[in-house]
Amino acid sequence: MDQTPLLEVKGYKKWYPVKKKLLGKETQYVKAVDGVSFSIRAGETFGLVGESGCGKTTIGKGILRLHEASAGEVFFEGSDLLKLPPQELRKARRNMQIIYQDPYSSLDPRMTVGETIGEPLEIHRIASGASKRQRVLELMDYVGLGPSYYDRYPHEFSGGQRQRVGIARALCLNPKLIVCDEPVSALDVSIQSQILNLLEDLQDRFHLTYLFIAHGLTVVKHISDRIGVMYLGKLIELADSSELFARPLHPYTEALLSAIPATDPSQRRQRILLEGDVPNAMNLPSGCRFHTRCPYCQAVCREQEPELKEMGNGHFCACHFSEKR
Ligand code: SF4
Repeated sequence: MDQTPLLEVKGYKKWYPVKKKLLGKETQYVKAVDGVSFSIRAGETFGLVGESGCGKTTIGKGILRLHEASAGEVFFEGSDLLKLPPQELRKARRNMQIIYQDPYSSLDPRMTVGETIGEPLEIHRIASGASKRQRVLELMDYVGLGPSYYDRYPHEFSGGQRQRVGIARALCLNPKLIVCDEPVSALDVSIQSQILNLLEDLQDRFHLTYLFIAHGLTVVKHISDRIGVMYLGKLIELADSSELFARPLHPYTEALLSAIPATDPSQRRQRILLEGDVPNAMNLPSGCRFHTRCPYCQAVCREQEPELKEMGNGHFCACHFSEKR
C-alpha cells in the first residue's frame, strides 16, 4: 500500500458554545472533538470507533467541512481544506464524498433513484441528459442495482438497496476519499456483510480510501487496516487492526474488545463491565477523561491528562500505564 498520507488531520477541535457571556460568566463549550490528529494513507481503510457522542461523526463531517472547525488543520493532498476559499473547496469536494448512516432519511423521497445518483453530475456541471443517464446506469451496475430501478422512488426500496443508492451517489464524481459514517449500523445483520463486501470490492476496483466510522469494533475489524479508538472527543488508542485486537493497550479498548463474543474458545476474553455513564462533554473529568470509569485508575490519572504516545510498531496509546500492559 502507498505510504503517502492522502489525508492528515492535525489538532482538530470542534467546540460548541452552549452559554453566551452573561453577567461576566465565561461561555461554556461542549468539546465534541478536542484536539485529534491522525493520517490516512492512499488506499487505506481507517476505522474510527467509539460510543455515541465521542466525536467520531463530528470529525468525519468536519473533514468535509460540512461544519466549520474550532481549531486545527486538515490536509488533503497537501492543501489545508479548512483554509480553502469556497470555489477551491467546491473543487476539492469532488474528491471527497460521504455515505450516511441512515439510508431511510438520507435520500430525498421526491427524487427517483436516477435523479438522486446523478444529481452531483448536474451540480458540478459534468453531465446532463443522455450522458448523465449512461453514467448513472453504470454506477447502478457497480453497486448491484439493475436498470429497472432507475425511475423508482426510495420508498420502494429495502434498507440495503437504499444504502446501495447512497454508495452509487458517493461514487458519482470518482472521489479519492469516502467518509463512511456508520454505513451499516441501521441495517439488518444479514445485509450488513453484503454492504461491507460491496465497499471492499469497490475499494479494490477504484483504489478508494475510506474513513470508516462505527460505534463498535466488530464492524471495523475486517474492513480496517488501522483503527483509532475515541473517547469523549479524544483519540485514546491507534494501531494496525490486527495489533489492536491482539494487544489492546488502553483499558477502554480492552473493555470494548471484551464485549465481543469470541467464536474460538481460546480467544475468549473476560468481560470487563464499565461502571457509570459517559461523563458530560460540557463538564469533562480532570486528568484522564476515562478515569471515572477505569478499573485501573490511580491518583495520577485524576490529575494529569495522558498524552497519545507511540508504544512501538505504530501503536499509539493515551494511558499513564500503557507500557505496563
Ligand atoms: Fe485508566 Fe489511568 Fe490509564 Fe486513564 S491513565 S486509562 S484512568 S489507568
